[in-house]
Amino acid sequence: MSEPSDAEELAALTTTLKRHLQRRQRAGVGYLAKAAPAPAKTVSPIDQPNKPNVLAGTELDMLGDTQQVFVAESLEDLRAVIGDCQRCKLCSGRTNIVFGIGNPRAKLMFVGEGPGRDEDLQGEPFVGRAGQLLTDIITKGMGLKREDVYICNVVKCRPPENRNPEPDEVAACEPFLKKQIDIVRPEIIVGLGKFAVQTLLNSKVPISKLRGVWASYHGIKLMPTFHPAYLLRNPADKKLVWEDIKQVIKVMRGENA
Ligand code: URA
Repeated sequence: MSEPSDAEELAALTTTLKRHLQRRQRAGVGYLAKAAPAPAKTVSPIDQPNKPNVLAGTELDMLGDTQQVFVAESLEDLRAVIGDCQRCKLCSGRTNIVFGIGNPRAKLMFVGEGPGRDEDLQGEPFVGRAGQLLTDIITKGMGLKREDVYICNVVKCRPPENRNPEPDEVAACEPFLKKQIDIVRPEIIVGLGKFAVQTLLNSKVPISKLRGVWASYHGIKLMPTFHPAYLLRNPADKKLVWEDIKQVIKVMRGENA
């Protein structure tokens, strides 16, 4: 049998993608990740020694960045799409990409701002002092294990000197956060601090006004609360966060909405 021509291969690829998108549509996957800015890649994004390269050698290799994010069906797929990311300037200062951790089927997801020094070194979100406080909230406050929930950040690389992520950095990373949420499909998201909450809600309202009031992220219940790092500086406000967490516990128990 003769080799398929380029046109035949392209037609087959288009059909595969079309079918995939139709299956997702039928499954009710309702929104598309926003396009990341054109990647300035110096290293192949799927060239990571320790990560299974789920896309290599398949027709998905040929898809653009946005389509690769869109067709990712698991957190592993998505992590492979991120690869050795060079999509924004945060890549130059990072040690590790801090993708996220926890139960991929978690009912509850925590979203923070971005990795700090400890997280950058260890490649895991919320492992420093603020992370210990978050872990206490999860374990001592909620009676859950850290592995029961899913924890991630708006940006996956540490901003220098822990400054706030800049708009272009958020824009480059947001498709990955959206897709993480899409894949995990939690019942509840707890937004940790002004930055995460304002990004998720696309709002400029101060966190002091947003916290404690249920909001919606594409139909998922979102509870905005203060960031654990803020609580380390303002321990008197821990009681407010506990009020917010009690509301989350109630909803998780099916007690009210
Ligand atoms: N602060 C965050 O917002 N995220 C982390 O992972 C750690 C500290």
